[in-house]
Amino acid sequence: MRWTERQTAMLHEMGIRLWSPQPGPHGADDSTPLPPAERGVGAADAALRSGGPAPVVAGPVVASLGDVAALGWNDLRDAVVACTACGLCKGRRQTVFGVGHRRAHWMIVGEAPGEQEDIQGEPFVGKSGQLLDNMLRAVGLGRNEPQHVDADAAAARQVYIANTIKCRPPGNRNPEPDELARCEPFLIRQLQLVRPKIILAMGRFAVQSLLRSSEPIGRLRGRVHQYQGIPLIVTYHPAYLLRNPEDKAKAWDDLCLAAAAARGA
Ligand code: SF4
Repeated sequence: MRWTERQTAMLHEMGIRLWSPQPGPHGADDSTPLPPAERGVGAADAALRSGGPAPVVAGPVVASLGDVAALGWNDLRDAVVACTACGLCKGRRQTVFGVGHRRAHWMIVGEAPGEQEDIQGEPFVGKSGQLLDNMLRAVGLGRNEPQHVDADAAAARQVYIANTIKCRPPGNRNPEPDELARCEPFLIRQLQLVRPKIILAMGRFAVQSLLRSSEPIGRLRGRVHQYQGIPLIVTYHPAYLLRNPEDKAKAWDDLCLAAAAARGA
């Protein structure tokens, strides 16, 4: 495969090194990338699937998808902001709802907010966010509104990003199964509202939530799964990739697979 100059630059941003084109024995160059690296869910959910902490605003306790199934974007966001359905509400500075185009063709699902997400109120910020942005840019996508394009083109080029869980677990610990279960209706409703053509599930908890699988990412990536009839690609979380840069080439393969699946969709 030959990379365009832009793709090469983006792969460089991701930290993926490419073979320098070397003349072969017959004078041909060969530019090839280096190989490096439950719980109480309501029946409605199951059917659908196949500075310091801010004061918590007393509000509705969301316990099932039925509580949010009819909500539009603004009411859904308000419900998340007011949510006290699990103990994570006690330590959050703010909820982290989601960002991007509300009719995006691509929906990125991450795990739980970290410290910077909790501070800024946006998923995937800090170093992980920068890596995600670079990865998306490499396939012509971004989280911000593209300039000078019509609405359809914007939906095709701007992603929607949401986390599996909307409040930061203290000390960045893993979310508990009960916390994942209580927060899940919000993600399901976001997926229903966006209706993406492709879902990119990044990391273990996104995969557990969307595919009901506890298999390692390494066994699930590399093929097209389905979530409610929507193609779903499993890949590594950017935070993992920062710790394990040898797996960035696999993440690139996953992005290419997602792009192909989106085109097929
Ligand atoms: Fe509500 Fe989700 Fe936050 Fe728990 S993590 S309080 S379920 S918004």
